Amino acid sequence: MKDIIQLHDRKFRVMIPAEEIDRAVTAVAERLNADYADKPTPLFLGILNGSFMFMSDLIKKIEFQNELSFVKLSSYEGTSSTGVVKNLIGLNSSIEGRHVIIVEDIVDTGESIEHMVRDLQARKPASIEVCTLFFKPASYSKNFPIRYRAMEIGNEFIVGYGLDYDQLGRSLKDVYVVTE
Ligand code: 5GP
Ligand code: MG
Repeated sequence: MKDIIQLHDRKFRVMIPAEEIDRAVTAVAERLNADYADKPTPLFLGILNGSFMFMSDLIKKIEFQNELSFVKLSSYEGTSSTGVVKNLIGLNSSIEGRHVIIVEDIVDTGESIEHMVRDLQARKPASIEVCTLFFKPASYSKNFPIRYRAMEIGNEFIVGYGLDYDQLGRSLKDVYVVTE
């Protein structure tokens, strides 16, 4: 692993090595295994693009029968003055009555996740929980409880393990933080 990398105009240094991420993913998978063991075929719903690597490692550690799908939040300019409207795309089958676990790379202010939970709740699932790899407690400003957090970090900007800086850095197996 390189200690310092350059992505676009910024330098990043290693913050969380792959082994530590793996331990955190194992710990959160164990909690899910305990909590969902008796639920009928829970549905893991990954949010693209950021969650692909977390989902891949997490799902290998899940011991109950499950289904898995990915969705994306598209944003487009609305025609009205309300401005940017975000839409959940890629969810083609019903989630009514299902136990849904949203899989996210990072929850920061909670703006995106709140929007998604509201959209999904309207589709009448049996339950919705959020499982995020990273959580920024100092930044989170929403009421919806984020039950499964693999790791908590400060307000620093990170890349790697699915997370990007303007599309670069997603494939890194370690997590890097931007340097001052
Ligand atoms: P929120 O809506 O919770 O404020 O922000 C969530 C989104 O912001 C994430 O899905 C991610 O795209 C982006 N984000 C927030 N913090 C970071 C960070 O530290 N690194 C990267 N790469 N993206 C972040
Ligand atoms: Mg994301």
